[in-house]
Amino acid sequence: MAAASSQPNQFDASVLDQLACPACLGGLVLDGERLVCAGCGRGYAIVDAIPVLIAERAVNSRS
Ligand SMILES: [Zn+2]
Repeated sequence: MAAASSQPNQFDASVLDQLACPACLGGLVLDGERLVCAGCGRGYAIVDAIPVLIAERAVNSRS
């Protein structure tokens, strides 16, 4: 157990601009504990600080 950074399970929002929605390649924004695509509205869970950018597992937040 090495001493890691203070918040090892915290998603690093500074990498957001390097990520894109796998469904539409739109930009992603952090919304609470998930990422939401600004283009298509899909939401992606963040598990152990790793965003699950899999289109099949996205939740469409638009109804
Ligand atoms: Zn999208």
